[in-house]
Amino acid sequence: MRLSERQIKIVELVKKSSPMTGEQIANQLKLTRATLRPDLTILTMTGVLEARPRVGYFYKEQPGKSSIAEKMHQLRVGDFKSMAAAVKESISIYDAVVSMFTNNVGSLIVIGEERELKGMVSRKDILKAALGKVDLHQVPIAVIMTRMPNIIMVNSDESVLEAARKLAQHQIDTLPVVESYINENGDELFEVVGRFTKTNVTNLFVELGS
Ligand code: ADP
Repeated sequence: MRLSERQIKIVELVKKSSPMTGEQIANQLKLTRATLRPDLTILTMTGVLEARPRVGYFYKEQPGKSSIAEKMHQLRVGDFKSMAAAVKESISIYDAVVSMFTNNVGSLIVIGEERELKGMVSRKDILKAALGKVDLHQVPIAVIMTRMPNIIMVNSDESVLEAARKLAQHQIDTLPVVESYINENGDELFEVVGRFTKTNVTNLFVELGS
């Protein structure tokens, strides 16, 4: 149901200071009680407000209409992740720059032969290397990447809120989305199945707010 401008004003008032009598609402809006009566009837009949005799009007939390925070708790990373822009650790820094442009990303996930997570290379890592005297065509990204076990990652079934918190807390742009497995040597490795980035969070924020 679409509320009128006046009804929205009434709801905002009652939300701020429940309970409010019809008289108090009318005074605040500089209207007569009679003018307000149809609006108050609609708002109570549709369950937006609750009228308690001799007490006043209360705002009723809408069941099933959860807040953005609640939704971000419920939504899973797996449903919002992007494809991983992943490269092998043997590629040169120069080729990593090319890959960033062709994939339109600011960070690359570095993987091994079995798509297992090895590290991350970001724009700043490359800028830092470019300031030095390294041969960008010769030096592999393995030399400049942030490597495991120092990579912050996320699972598909973690909440998008948890993932966004990791991005904010560690001041990074990209989280590799991984699935852990044990290889034949008994080591725990992390297969890269996607990436979750600040852009995913921004898009989701816009979607939830619209
Ligand atoms: P930028 O370099 O554009 O600021 P980031 O903020 O993502 O991009 O990266 C900052 C630093 O953190 C870089 O050194 C990068 O290698 C490292 N880094 C990027 N992503 C991760 C991650 N998921 N876990 C750990 N370190 C990361």
